[in-house]
Amino acid sequence: MTNRPVDRRSLIRFGAAAAGAVALASCAKENPGRETRDGGGEGGPYDVAVIGAGYAGITAARDLAAKGWRVVVLEARPRIGGRTFTSEFLGRPVELGGSSVHWVQPHVFTEMQRYGFDFEEVPLYDLDASYIMTSDGAVHNVPPAKFDTLYNDAFNRFCANSRTLFPQPYKPFANPEVLKIDDISAAQHLASLGLDPLGKAALSAELVLYAGGPTSTFSYASFVKLFALAAWDPFTFTDSEKHWHIANGGTAALAKAILDDSKADVRLGTVVKEVEQRDKGVTLRTADGQTVEARAAVFTLPTSVYPDINFKPGLSSAKREFIAHGDSADGATMYMKVKNNLGNTFAFCDDPNPLNAIQTEEFGDDGTILKATLGRQSLIDMNDLDAVGAELRKIHPNAEITDIAPYNWVKDPFSKQAWPAYKVGWFKKYKDMAKAEGRLFFAGSATADGWHEYIDGAVESGIRACREVTEKLAREEAANG
Ligand SMILES: Cc1cc2nc3c(=O)[nH]c(=O)nc-3n(C[C@H](O)[C@H](O)[C@H](O)COP(=O)(O)OP(=O)(O)OC[C@H]3O[C@@H](n4cnc5c(N)ncnc54)[C@H](O)[C@@H]3O)c2cc1C
Repeated sequence: MTNRPVDRRSLIRFGAAAAGAVALASCAKENPGRETRDGGGEGGPYDVAVIGAGYAGITAARDLAAKGWRVVVLEARPRIGGRTFTSEFLGRPVELGGSSVHWVQPHVFTEMQRYGFDFEEVPLYDLDASYIMTSDGAVHNVPPAKFDTLYNDAFNRFCANSRTLFPQPYKPFANPEVLKIDDISAAQHLASLGLDPLGKAALSAELVLYAGGPTSTFSYASFVKLFALAAWDPFTFTDSEKHWHIANGGTAALAKAILDDSKADVRLGTVVKEVEQRDKGVTLRTADGQTVEARAAVFTLPTSVYPDINFKPGLSSAKREFIAHGDSADGATMYMKVKNNLGNTFAFCDDPNPLNAIQTEEFGDDGTILKATLGRQSLIDMNDLDAVGAELRKIHPNAEITDIAPYNWVKDPFSKQAWPAYKVGWFKKYKDMAKAEGRLFFAGSATADGWHEYIDGAVESGIRACREVTEKLAREEAANG
């Protein structure tokens, strides 16, 4: 194994600040850029180049460097964190990307424990009011206890056979029957259950969120696997997805803690455009003319951005097919400030209503901060205060909306999608995306066995990539004496 000093820290360059900058609504602020660092290499050659500094990339980089490999991280944006993004809205911290975490998500929970991060509670229970909007736009004010009963009944029936299908959720194909149901869409399964119309509308809104698109194209099996990961229990599932954020600085602070614990060099604002694989190594070329040599490369990109990179030779046909059809989500999160005190409320709005879940984050005499999650952000102009206000007033007729903070992940050139969401028929093929090709290794939350739509899946995939790279490089070193 290469043995070079790995403890030096110095600022080497701050990459193109404009790279990846996407206009935020007037009220949300970019979190400050982080310094590009030299963790101890001398500009290469490196053992491993990690492409992307989201949770998958920073986990892989930290773990690979801890093994003694010389690692460089090449990140396109001027910040780390990828599809997590701690920002500020009217002076309070907000998460515009991945936000909710939970102790049933073992990989991210371990990182929180490792660096001393606590959970921050988001209001979700003890609601003052709850609403279900059906697809025709009719709004039903459903008392919270009844809302819970309707929703949990629908959920339990939708996921009724999850324990049989996914007896070991981290081995999704332990029961080969899963392969047979991958052609069933969430919409098809939902329609087959004969549910109460309101329970069905609430669950359908939830499924649109996970689908990041119409439920008719969303893999039913992939959702049931996520349910299985939450101990096959609707309460635990809901608690894991909407109730707890990361305290003490949010996702940005945890990402920084992971990367600060790493001896990897980090180059921000560095857009990888081409990778050439040879017998003994890989050459990466960047948009600003840098050439980086390494023995192996770990790609951790959102599936939708792979076509922007010139792979020489090209990726396998299985991977290209997955990239073209397998996963993407048109989703988004946005925050809204309302003058009135709306109290602690929750609403599910079924497709094609655009704000699929609307949850109170803060309420009081100063008004209300709401968070909306959209499965199909392209159904509305998220920057149009009037259009967003009109949607909100369908639920809260007196709401005086004053400010909004959306983030469009689909228009961001370094994600081009929101969370990973497998299409019908593609869940069984996600392993194609995870498979190494020579000296190229692939991570990212879409490749996770477990919580693939989550931060947890990104961390899981980074751990796996470190193991795979280490096995390959160590084998080579053993063979070379
Ligand atoms: C709106 C939204 C809400 C979400 N809600 C939750 C939630 O509540 N809980 C949860 O756990 N998860 C949630 N997720 C999902 C979660 O955020 C992601 O699954 C996870 O963060 C993905 O991490 P990653 O490292 O796999 O990919 P990314 O975070 O996308 O990292 C990939 C990195 O690669 C970089 N990159 C792209 N192209 C290039 C290039 N050419 N050269 C160099 N670098 C490049 C990108 O800039 C990025 O930093 C949400 C996601 C979104 C968008």
